[in-house]
Amino acid sequence: MNIKRPLALGAMIIGVGFFGAFAHQAQAAVPTCTDYRTINPAANKEYPNDGHYFVCFNATNQAAEQIRLPVRSLKNGSANVWNTLKNQNVQYAFFADRADAVAWMNANPAYTPMAATAGSARCGSTGFSQGGTKPILVAIYETCTFNNPRKGTPPLPTNILNPNLRNITLHETGHAFDFAIGKSQGLAFGPSSSRAFKKMVGTRPGVDQVNNGPLERSDMVKIDIGDQTHGPEDKCGLYDSVAPSQLERDLGYPTILNKTVCTGTTVNPDFVGMTPSQVAKQQSPYFVNPPNGHYQEVWAQGFAVKTGLQTSPRTTPFYDRLPGALRCSNLAMTWYYDFLLPLPAAKQQTNNCPRVTDNDFKVQ
Ligand SMILES: [Zn+2]
Repeated sequence: MNIKRPLALGAMIIGVGFFGAFAHQAQAAVPTCTDYRTINPAANKEYPNDGHYFVCFNATNQAAEQIRLPVRSLKNGSANVWNTLKNQNVQYAFFADRADAVAWMNANPAYTPMAATAGSARCGSTGFSQGGTKPILVAIYETCTFNNPRKGTPPLPTNILNPNLRNITLHETGHAFDFAIGKSQGLAFGPSSSRAFKKMVGTRPGVDQVNNGPLERSDMVKIDIGDQTHGPEDKCGLYDSVAPSQLERDLGYPTILNKTVCTGTTVNPDFVGMTPSQVAKQQSPYFVNPPNGHYQEVWAQGFAVKTGLQTSPRTTPFYDRLPGALRCSNLAMTWYYDFLLPLPAAKQQTNNCPRVTDNDFKVQ
């Protein structure tokens, strides 16, 4: 990136991406990142293509457009999101693969704290460095690198061509929006890492799960036992006969089964004895059972689905069945998306969601 940045670095970095076990990195030459306006002068020059979008390898313009277009499209219908990304200086960079992204970050000190997370991400990564001007960078990889190659049945490949650059860009933009909200409030994390959002998802009994009777239940309790007005989710209605993608198999290794939950309206034997939330934790641990206890992936993929801009093939088709059922967390994300505000108490109440304060969205 040819932006000059102060070299001061803080100690803290938060980053998220399609990560898993830390993978051994191949050494890559440091790529050169070029302002996309120079590469494709004919492209629309509104954000992100106003000096916030860089291409760091010999990509085709057709591929490069798959990153610019969905972000530009947010201007229509999601102006709060688009303005927040722009105002908080969220940058986009398109790399050949993660080895290139890591090499570039290591060579550019303001972004170096992002390298660890980027280096374990599969198809893209978003970093929020606390150093200097606190850059937020979305890195998208044309080739996805898997963290569990040759494992599973059938064996996962080492890498694949990014299955859908637009969808990955929208997912990472969900992380960037989360960080940008936090940055606008002077925080080092976004609302998805707040205690409020954790209570809304509530996958961990005794930690963040809420079940104060049928009028106040977190999402995971509600999909299992329902609430005042809804019964428990029907597993086939919820998960259907959608198989996990290769990316989801890598993200869900080793607990995920390469099977569909249902065939039509019949629950398949492996899932008969499980509740809806147990299925979610086994098949989508990356989203609903993350080791760090932050539901940043629920937020980011809910954001991608919410935009309505996802195209086929879906990158996480199995998980994409879930956000509609995760009522409270999805509402909380949506309230920031539509209004840039925490979910109001009245909405928590009418939707039987965990009761939280505005401040609960700003503390971990
Ligand atoms: Zn993510």
